[in-house]
Amino acid sequence: MKCEICGTKMAETFLEKVIGTVVKDAKGKKHWVCAKCQSGLKNKDALLAKL
Ligand SMILES: [Zn+2]
Repeated sequence: MKCEICGTKMAETFLEKVIGTVVKDAKGKKHWVCAKCQSGLKNKDALLAKL
């Protein structure tokens, strides 16, 4: 799984849970965002604007 903003491979825990978040755009499409990009952007709208 890669972050859709910075393209880095996202870290996963031993349970294969990705460290990061999933945001849904207006069409309901899921986008993966790593924790680093998530923390750099204030809210969901700011994240979606980068995708
Ligand atoms: Zn990222």
